[in-house]
Amino acid sequence: MHDFQYRHGELHCEDVAVSRIAKEVGTPCYVYSHTTLTRHYRAFDGAFRSVPHIVAFAMKANSNLAILRLMAREGSGADIVSGGELYRALQAGIAPAKIVFAGVGKNRQEIRYALENDILMFNVESSAELRAIDEVAAELGRRARVALRINPDIDPMTHPYISTGLKKSKFGISADRALDEYKLASSLKHIEVVGVHKHIGSQLTEVTPFVDALKKVLVLVESLKAHGAHIRYINIGGGLGITYLDEVPPHPQELADAISPLVRDLKCVLIMEPGRVIVGNAGILLTSVLYTKEGESKRFIIVDAAMNDLIRPSLYGAYHEIRPVREVPHAKTVTVDVVGPVCESGDFLAKDRAMPDAKPGDLLAVMSAGAYGFVMASNYNSRPRVPEVLVKEGQIHVIRAREEFADLVRGEVIPDFLR
Ligand SMILES: *Cc1c(COP(=O)(O)O)cnc(C)c1O
Repeated sequence: MHDFQYRHGELHCEDVAVSRIAKEVGTPCYVYSHTTLTRHYRAFDGAFRSVPHIVAFAMKANSNLAILRLMAREGSGADIVSGGELYRALQAGIAPAKIVFAGVGKNRQEIRYALENDILMFNVESSAELRAIDEVAAELGRRARVALRINPDIDPMTHPYISTGLKKSKFGISADRALDEYKLASSLKHIEVVGVHKHIGSQLTEVTPFVDALKKVLVLVESLKAHGAHIRYINIGGGLGITYLDEVPPHPQELADAISPLVRDLKCVLIMEPGRVIVGNAGILLTSVLYTKEGESKRFIIVDAAMNDLIRPSLYGAYHEIRPVREVPHAKTVTVDVVGPVCESGDFLAKDRAMPDAKPGDLLAVMSAGAYGFVMASNYNSRPRVPEVLVKEGQIHVIRAREEFADLVRGEVIPDFLR
């Protein structure tokens, strides 16, 4: 459920007409609903109330400071994947004691930065990384808390680019190697193994892969314990899917009902890293129609947003519903490609889409764009990145300003020999 609904034929975000946002902020822009964000966070957090847990919002899905502050106020931690994300999380006021750090390629500066800020733990993906963390922790005279990221070899039945828990994946440590990694870790003076972690992929629409993967990890936890490990945290990662078209993903409560009984008696804190399920349907990309064009075999709707603003359709062939901001009664349904101004054939927001016809000046809402939307935006074709807007109680808050041309060249230098 989300708060982008029609009232009298006009798409609203909560109580605010989306057309008003277009007028005040311009297009393209991202629009998020405070009510939806809050409700989604609380539904997820509340679902796991029967077990001690930490929700570590996967901030790679949406890392705007205002969104992170909102999450921090709700009590959320953060799942980070870079030093830059740690910087943002700290700026937003997320408690370091609820920050977990994943990723196969953490560099030494990032490791040092995280240790200096005493984050909860590193989710470690290789023995080389374990050694690097040990060395940096030694330099700082600290002990680093780590969880071993296990690759349970479970197919999440999702897009290959967002599957992360298969044998062939670059992520995690295979279950057969985990015991050896643990032995290595426990021999390192500046490492303390406190948990296990897994994250098998994104946009999962069934509970079964979560349960199967967790069961595999729990077998391993038993054997780690038998070797003297003091496992206090079990991190099941993120990946719960959302409805883009006709998917029917489980409600967080269904996930919790399947997971909680498996961990209840383990005296561990459960960590979850939801991203998309919290923010995905809480945001839209608002765009204006510039032109329409009759191609040889196709009709094109050319809009002012492009692949640099929302790359998911180009990158994953992802489906985003596109709705008219003003419903036109009895509008003719046409099959079109909705494309942007970028000079690439891969620049489209929808392909061969049956939708109500649109004309220049019309506003369109690209739905379910709150996750992996703005965060993946680039300046390709020297397009300034678009603003982000948060709607709350009838108010429009610009939480990221539209970039200006001057922003495009910031940091670029013409060397003396070219002057
Ligand atoms: C991307 C990612 C997540 C979040 O995935 P969602 O599908 O957005 O919930 C969580 N944990 C890790 C380690 C990730 O890489």
